[in-house]
Amino acid sequence: MREVCAKCGHVLVKDRGYPDAHYILVGEFPGQEEIYKGAVMVGEMGKMLSTELSRACISPLQLRLTNLWQHAPTFGKLNKSVETECLKPMISSLYEKFQAEQVKGVMLMGSDCIRWLTDLDSLEDWSSLDITTHMLAPLPAGVWVMCMANPAIAFHGGVGETRLALQRFKERMDQE
Ligand SMILES: [Zn+2]
Repeated sequence: MREVCAKCGHVLVKDRGYPDAHYILVGEFPGQEEIYKGAVMVGEMGKMLSTELSRACISPLQLRLTNLWQHAPTFGKLNKSVETECLKPMISSLYEKFQAEQVKGVMLMGSDCIRWLTDLDSLEDWSSLDITTHMLAPLPAGVWVMCMANPAIAFHGGVGETRLALQRFKERMDQE
């Protein structure tokens, strides 16, 4: 039996990677393949991402993969307050993951993460840079946060932006 959202009944999609990893990649929401398979960042997107991670010399062993939305986003289908109710526990559980003792760095992937987790106006202004924002203040000192566009843009606009962002992520990891 798959776990469902207590607020709306949508099926939840599980994290992948290592729960005790030093770094967390946060996607926006699960796509159809992820929902079908029940795990984040699988299918075509997952394949592309693991190719690019290995190109950037980032080992999967260093990562926990998760999404902001643990189920399909409800954009517009439910009313706004239900949507916010769904997200509230998801955001809390994300913060719990960020606050785990071993976590050193977080990469937020996609503008929905920026919208819900930070007070920044746009992802483009901050792509591949360290984000400082008071909304992320509950994070333990020393945990850094970066952002990048949703890697799915690689399927329309080429893989360059994703590749560059992951390279910057790796450089940041190496500064430890
Ligand atoms: Zn829900």
